[in-house]
Amino acid sequence: MKLLLVEDEKPMLKALHEILLREGYDVTEAEDGETALGQILTDVYDVVVLDVMLPKMSGIEVAHKARTHGIKTPILMLTAMSELDDKVTGLDSGADDYLTKPFMTKELLARLRALCRRNVQSVDGSLSAGDLCLDVQGLSLSSTKTGQSVRLSEKELRILEYLIANQEQIVSREQIATKIWGFESDAEYNNVEVYISFTRKKLSFIGTDMEIKAVRGLGYQIKKKS
Ligand code: CA
Repeated sequence: MKLLLVEDEKPMLKALHEILLREGYDVTEAEDGETALGQILTDVYDVVVLDVMLPKMSGIEVAHKARTHGIKTPILMLTAMSELDDKVTGLDSGADDYLTKPFMTKELLARLRALCRRNVQSVDGSLSAGDLCLDVQGLSLSSTKTGQSVRLSEKELRILEYLIANQEQIVSREQIATKIWGFESDAEYNNVEVYISFTRKKLSFIGTDMEIKAVRGLGYQIKKKS
């Protein structure tokens, strides 16, 4: 799980980083709002822990700008007790949940687990991109344009789930490998290509307008055919 940790108070940053590492999160740090936004827009994270009071750009502004750019990554906002109004503003700006400082480690970890689960699924368990509709529970993919549908293998489902959840971004082969197979190795990278080609066949079978575009040297993105 790739996590972006945004916090400007060094002792807090250090403590949180250690806790999250121990829980197995792959943690990237940012200490101001501008840097955080840049990272959210260029890299794919599974979840963002975002402090509200930050130098250069507030957490609220970061969340708002990320959502404006179509980034759907779940955001857990950290707010101080005295910034009570920030909770409301934070949720309005696109944060998914908030936690008031000081908080218990257990509480933080529970909220993060809940957000990561929620990440890729809508309320009814389906995801969409263009005319594509992915039924996560039913392991099937359909096109609202052609009305065709097809069954998916579990790996194909998970690849599409990941690409659709991050459709505004380019997802690297390494990220797909880590997400689907859980670890990194050359063999797994080749698997990604194999499964991407299986998945493309399913897309062409249902006649969708969407395609998995390979972006040279960077990775893949699900997009409308141009
Ligand atoms: Ca702060």
